Amino acid sequence: ADGTRIIDGEAVAADVRDDVTAHVEALEAAGVTPGLATVLMSDDPASETYVSMKQRDCEEVGIESVHLEIDADAPAEELYDTIDDLNEREDVHGILVQLPVPDHVDKRRVLRRIAPEKDVDGFHPENVGRLVAGDARFKPCTPHGVQKLLAAYDVETEGADAVVVGRSDIVGKPMANLLIQKGPVGNATTTVCHSRTEDLEGKLATADIVIAAVGVPEFIDGSALKEGATVIDVGINRVDADTEKGYELVGDVAYESAKAAAGAITPVPGGVGPMTRAMLLYNTVKAAGLQSDVSLDL
Ligand code: NDP
Repeated sequence: ADGTRIIDGEAVAADVRDDVTAHVEALEAAGVTPGLATVLMSDDPASETYVSMKQRDCEEVGIESVHLEIDADAPAEELYDTIDDLNEREDVHGILVQLPVPDHVDKRRVLRRIAPEKDVDGFHPENVGRLVAGDARFKPCTPHGVQKLLAAYDVETEGADAVVVGRSDIVGKPMANLLIQKGPVGNATTTVCHSRTEDLEGKLATADIVIAAVGVPEFIDGSALKEGATVIDVGINRVDADTEKGYELVGDVAYESAKAAAGAITPVPGGVGPMTRAMLLYNTVKAAGLQSDVSLDL
């Protein structure tokens, strides 16, 4: 569409970080330094990068970060024990175990082990249940970030037809749950699509809002979109390219063709990615407030 709005995730994330910084100062004034613990049990370079970015983000807003590494081939018990220790620590308000964990570790057990009030990823069943029940404590960072983007750009969700492509526990499912909630940035009529969906094209063709969380590079083409739709591209895919690193990042949406059809669209990178990172800081500060009884407007 002419005048397609490019949704600037870096700018909205910077606003979130400013907000977080103000809340960190309020906590500090009450004698509380918010702390986030990250736990890495993996040799995967991408996971290492994600964890170090999260630590840097903390530093920027005044959150203390503690980092623990466990050998990828260590017994699962070592991870469980580490979580138990962190649950007890008063200087740690948020705990994030970087996923995926090795195959010999039971991921569900890990997520259940984290104290729900420190579960800043929002993956503990108690927090998942609260979100579904419309009483969220920690909204998972990526869908929460998408909500903030929609709000920042005044995208009308009430009564809109939204299509979420992807049903993962970390993106698709919580995204759909947020969109159907009563209240701001909710009230959308939401369809969740996945690999067994029939006639995805028919569903996309009438969608006012498309959230793509598929993990397939450029899976959705502009020709599939309704004119003027809002397109949120969650995908981050590495594809071989003639760049210094030998790859480039592309989304789950074919950007140029989608931009031509859309009314508003997120780029990759610079769309949802920075928001995911910012919302982790937000959840950490919220956790610190809840645990220290400092009332923050979050
Ligand atoms: P998953 O692989 O867990 O889920 C992908 C979903 O897409 C599944 O539900 C799958 O269906 C569905 N799917 C796959 N192929 C098709 C198809 N051909 N047609 C319809 N649906 C399909 O991925 P995640 O949700 O974890 O992540 C999705 C993308 O988002 C990835 O690119 C990831 O890197 C990125 N990501 C980005 C983040 C950010 O901060 N921006 C944060 C987290 C993820 P089925 O369930 O049937 O298999």
